[in-house]
Amino acid sequence: MLLWTSFLPDANKLRSTRCYSGMKQIELNNGVQMPQIGLGVWQAKDGQEVVRAIHWALESGYRHIDTASIYKNEEGVGQAIQTAPIDREQIFLTTKIWNNDIRARRTKEALKESLDRLQTSYVDLLLLHWPVDHFEEAWLALEEAYQAGQAKAIGLSNFMPEQIEKVIEIGSVIPAVNQIEYHPYLTQADVTQICEKHGIVVTAWSPLMQGHFKNESLFADIAAAHGKTPAQVVLRWGIQRDVIIIPKSTNEGRIQENFELFDFELSTEEMEQINALERGRRFGPDPRNFDF
Ligand code: NAD
Repeated sequence: MLLWTSFLPDANKLRSTRCYSGMKQIELNNGVQMPQIGLGVWQAKDGQEVVRAIHWALESGYRHIDTASIYKNEEGVGQAIQTAPIDREQIFLTTKIWNNDIRARRTKEALKESLDRLQTSYVDLLLLHWPVDHFEEAWLALEEAYQAGQAKAIGLSNFMPEQIEKVIEIGSVIPAVNQIEYHPYLTQADVTQICEKHGIVVTAWSPLMQGHFKNESLFADIAAAHGKTPAQVVLRWGIQRDVIIIPKSTNEGRIQENFELFDFELSTEEMEQINALERGRRFGPDPRNFDF
């Protein structure tokens, strides 16, 4: 088993406030506080890769991890949290119920399996991953998990306006979060407006455009003016748009870089220049016509 101290020269560094100060918490509609930056771990390999990434992130000041049962790394995520010198309660942990389990009406069982792999009795946020058939029934199962204390907050991912309204109509808990693809090329105003109307916080997946930000010279120009990197400019734009961001990396330097967003601010003009890049371009599947 990989131990924290096996690659961290000084675990006490973790308890310092380095990089952590300035990070905002966003209050969800049930009063739960959610750190505005999280580490996304899609495509991080289970085992050593994901464990190390999470330990580096915690050392940099992250207190929020975004996984899902379909990422097949919940065991590593659980191991990383168990072996870090940070209390479980200090870490905001999100997981998601996968489509097959929603379709098979086995949300409750799937949650139990996730909690076992994560070695925890609760997650901070539990999401339905995609709005597949039987999502209504799955939502009611999430409400039960919430009432039972297995999830501190519950929400949706990739839900479109009509599906969000459906959940609100049939349920008794307003979703706390909708996690959607969101970056300078795609801001999904129709979805974010419904979220705002109901007090649902938006989490941006692929906030770095899955790496495609490198092809946009505007980010490099703005970055040079601030002495920051293009990735930091893209992420800072998300911070100033008040969304939660969950950039993914398993590289120590990049994990740290993606968290160092609070020592500069984009001007109104720079925000407008980046806003003008919107072109409805997706890097992931479209929830309106995906099929998996
Ligand atoms: P991302 O936009 O976070 O981009 C990640 C890629 O950008 C990395 O693979 C790396 O190549 C590059 N990168 C990261 N930091 C960099 C840096 N500082 N400089 C240069 N390049 C850098 O993409 P993502 O992984 O698709 O999204 C982030 C997270 O969102 C995922 O890990 C996952 O947790 C979540 N997600 C959720 C859904 C969903 O359906 N709910 C879908 C996709 C992703």
